[in-house]
Amino acid sequence: MAVLASALLLSPATAAGEKGSAVVPVAQEPPQAQYCLNVVYFVGQGAEPVPGYRERLGALLRWVQAFYAQEMEHNGFGHRTFGLAEEAGGMVEIQLLRGRKAHNAYGCGPDAAETVWAEVQAYQAAHPEKCRSAHTLVVMPTLTEGAFSHARPGGVPFCGYGRGCFVLDYAQFDLRHLGERSDEGRALTKWLGGLAHELGHAMNLPHNDAPAGDFDRRGTPLMGTGNYTLGTTPTYLTKASCNLLACCQLLAPAGDDTVYYPEHAAAPELADVRLRVQGDTLHVGLRCRGAAYVNLYVQDPPYGCNDDYDAVSYDAPLAEDRDGYRRAEVQVDLADITTLPHVEERCGESALDIVCVARDGLHYRTRITIPWQQLPPDGVIAPGPLQLQEGY
Ligand code: ZN
Repeated sequence: MAVLASALLLSPATAAGEKGSAVVPVAQEPPQAQYCLNVVYFVGQGAEPVPGYRERLGALLRWVQAFYAQEMEHNGFGHRTFGLAEEAGGMVEIQLLRGRKAHNAYGCGPDAAETVWAEVQAYQAAHPEKCRSAHTLVVMPTLTEGAFSHARPGGVPFCGYGRGCFVLDYAQFDLRHLGERSDEGRALTKWLGGLAHELGHAMNLPHNDAPAGDFDRRGTPLMGTGNYTLGTTPTYLTKASCNLLACCQLLAPAGDDTVYYPEHAAAPELADVRLRVQGDTLHVGLRCRGAAYVNLYVQDPPYGCNDDYDAVSYDAPLAEDRDGYRRAEVQVDLADITTLPHVEERCGESALDIVCVARDGLHYRTRITIPWQQLPPDGVIAPGPLQLQEGY
């Protein structure tokens, strides 16, 4: 169901040319969206929502919505962003859900996320009319006991979770502290940056960094360590992140009739993948069928999903269709991957991940290892047939 936001919103303006988000609010009209983010405020027994949560969270979400719109526009996708449903009066729709367990009994580890998620899923199954999309943001109020308080929020899950994510609420979680040089301002950057980052995961985004030169030009990638900089210093979304967002259900423009995340989709196909190390350049060539976009990520081991904040991302622009396949060529300047020590030293190994993004929102990954000390004399790595796996 399309639920359209019509009010003006606060936008993170581009205050310094190409740089990512600064903190100057400007009024801008949000785009119309076909789907909206499910925003669920989850409170266990014996606790209450933090006062003013509808106003505070509504304003924060509109700011993040505008940040994503700004970054999509910068990357050539137009003023597209995730939809937010509205209640009567123009407030952002936030669905209050009471948990079955005591609020302080859920904890904050993976088990807690799983338990809360199961209750949210049961609620959504019982209320399909309130389900706006496949993507859900769960907000839980901070604990106020033990090590936790509104001044030191925590004790509840804070992470991405499939097409959902968990963030927290506390009394000073308020846009009016944005950019302040105060404890409240610093806390806001951490928790608002965290919200925007976890929401990125909920919208199909993996971690990524960018070539070093982009740091001077644009700032810190939100899906790298930008959760600690958003609202304070320039923070942005990489082209690789925006490629994934362009195919995310939540950013579908009004009227879009794509079937998102189908259960039985044919995976894209890669062919003629070839890497060649020549001097300080890694040349990557490939042909691809069935993908709307292709991203490359270069990273050092370990490769786990929380060890990949430093995965340097590249867009692999696809040429016109030829015999069903589209060709891409990317030149990676090794000197520009300064976050990866193994690349600089040319010892050990690195990995090149190829991620194919399908129009239906599913994305597929495969990995090629680059053994720096054992490269063939001609520097060419031709891995042969590669299997793409759906998911992160
Ligand atoms: Zn993350």
